[in-house]
Amino acid sequence: MVQPEGRPAMPELRKDPIHGRWVIISTERGRRPSDFVVENQRSAGGFCPLCEGNEEKTPPEVLAYRNNGTSPNKPGWSLRVVPNKFPALRIEGDLNREGEGIYDKMNGIGAHEVVIETPLHQESLATLPLPAIKDVLWAYRERIVDLRRDVRLRFVLVFKNHGVAAGASLEHSHSQIIALPVIPTRVAEEIEGAKNFFKYKDRCVFCDIIRQELNQKKRVVSENNSFLSIAPFASRFPFETWILPKAHYPSFELMEAHLYEEAAQILSDTLHRMNRVLDQPPYNFIIHSSSFPDTEREYYHWHFEIMPKLTKVAGFEWGTGFYINPTPPEDAAEYMKEAK
Ligand SMILES: [Zn+2]
Ligand SMILES: [Zn+2]
Repeated sequence: MVQPEGRPAMPELRKDPIHGRWVIISTERGRRPSDFVVENQRSAGGFCPLCEGNEEKTPPEVLAYRNNGTSPNKPGWSLRVVPNKFPALRIEGDLNREGEGIYDKMNGIGAHEVVIETPLHQESLATLPLPAIKDVLWAYRERIVDLRRDVRLRFVLVFKNHGVAAGASLEHSHSQIIALPVIPTRVAEEIEGAKNFFKYKDRCVFCDIIRQELNQKKRVVSENNSFLSIAPFASRFPFETWILPKAHYPSFELMEAHLYEEAAQILSDTLHRMNRVLDQPPYNFIIHSSSFPDTEREYYHWHFEIMPKLTKVAGFEWGTGFYINPTPPEDAAEYMKEAK
């Protein structure tokens, strides 16, 4: 049986060259953007602790971009970073690594911060003007640079949950920074995969991916001088999109200053395309960057991973670590490329 667009009715198993992770691209279902019912309910209205004027409802700011002459924790800001009011981890105390029989534990040392991206409740990252998006990225950078001075910490994760279905508990546009005293398993796997590739080929796997994607053009969503946005070959989720710097940069926070503007531009462009194609979907994005201290400089390559929340992760995925993706990344890239 021949499917629309001449695609064979045979699902394809694809292996990600970094993690060795398998996905099932279920081409026979070949779902189009309009096939996804996006749960996009807004959270209940009412009081918002992140809005301008409510500064006393958050813990005191650790960083803010403010108009001249305004005081900390008062109105007059364009961006604030505050500790999470209900932190998953706390910065005070000692690690106290210890074992209890075969079980290891340590104190929940770390940092959990909220980046309030705009004073205005109705804005979203995608609707912010470019200089404001650049400020958001710059704030991430400033916070990571500060946190990595703490020798107890090994890794900083920057992520964003946009929309209730993607796990956002507050509607006001914000992202989160979590600094950890250990390297998370998922991250360690990716680092290990990149390291193995490098050992074998003496090249960075991400640099190789960039080269091939620029050649083939089949999965390119957009690009500018310094960045490339792609639907990865072994996408786990429909419309999963990665943004990578074209040159080899291991750490998000260690790029030259001028590149954050271009990073903001391609992030904005990619989010606009995604909003156009999928009608403002809920989404998560994550910055994948090197751990501390930098031992991965040669083979790790920082990047954004953006995942619109269109499908649910269920038993098969939990049981196998395999993902089933009903939209081939070549199709996703095509839709995204055409949207403008
Ligand atoms: Zn608000
Ligand atoms: Zn690289």
